[in-house]
Amino acid sequence: MDSNYHRILLKVSGEALLGEQGHGIDGDILTQYSEEIKSIHDEGFEVSVVVGGGNIFRGVKGATEGMDRVQGDYMGMLATMINSMALQDSLERMGVQTRLMSAIRMEEIAEPYIRRRATRHLEKGRVVIFGAGTGNPYFTTDTAASLRAIEIEADVILKGTRVDGIFDSDPEINPDAVKFPTITGEEVLSRQLDIMDLTAFTLCRENKTPIIVFDMNKVGNLKKVLQEDASVGSKVV
Ligand code: UDP
Repeated sequence: MDSNYHRILLKVSGEALLGEQGHGIDGDILTQYSEEIKSIHDEGFEVSVVVGGGNIFRGVKGATEGMDRVQGDYMGMLATMINSMALQDSLERMGVQTRLMSAIRMEEIAEPYIRRRATRHLEKGRVVIFGAGTGNPYFTTDTAASLRAIEIEADVILKGTRVDGIFDSDPEINPDAVKFPTITGEEVLSRQLDIMDLTAFTLCRENKTPIIVFDMNKVGNLKKVLQEDASVGSKVV
C-alpha cells in the first residue's frame, strides 16, 4: 500500500473502550480496534499504540472528590496498563505479535520502556503498546502519545476519536459544524480547538510531528487515513 507514512503512533482514548457499557472494557470495541490495527500491520506499517485510561480512572476526577492528585494520577496510569493488556491479548489472539512497554516498572507483565528496544521491536514487525502514560503524574496519555511519537521518530500521530476530524464547533452538539480537512497548528490554537491538551499539542508542533484526528469507530478508517484519503479525518500541518 502506498503511503507517505511508515512508522505510526495511534492514540486511542480509554473512554472509547467503554462502548455501550457504563464502565470497563467492551469486548466488541476491543475486537474492532484490534482488527483495525491488524489491517494496517498486515500492510507492513510499523505500528505503536498508546491507550488512555479514562474508562477506568482519571486523577483529576479523583482530586475533585478529595483524593490526593498524585495518587489518583498513578491510579490512572495503572488504568492504562489494564487497557493496554486487554489490547495486547486481543491482538495476540488474532496472531499479531506485540510487546507491551510500561513507563512504570512492572516487569512480570510488561517490559520497561527503553527507546532503542521499542524501535527494534517495531523494525521486527511487532506492534508496540506503550502503557502507563509518561510515568509521571500531572500528564495525560495524549502527552505520552506525543512524547513517544517524537522519541521513536514516528511519521505521524493518529488520534482516534468519536468524530471524523477537527471541526469549527463540536459536531456532536452543532449539526452544522464545518470540518477542516487540513488545518495549521496556528489556527488550531487561535480558534482554541480542543484536539489534545496543550502540552501534547506543543510537543508535536515543536517537533513537526503531523497529527491526524479521525473517527476510529468507523471500520476501515484507519487504513483510509494512511492511504491519505482526504475524505477521512483532519490533518494538522
Ligand atoms: N496519567 C498520568 N500521567 C500520564 C498519563 C496519564 O498521570 O503520563 C493519568 C491521569 O490521571 C489521567 C489518567 O492517567 O487522567 C488516564 O489517562 P487519560 O485521561 O489521558 O486517558 P484518556 O482520556 O485517553 O482515556
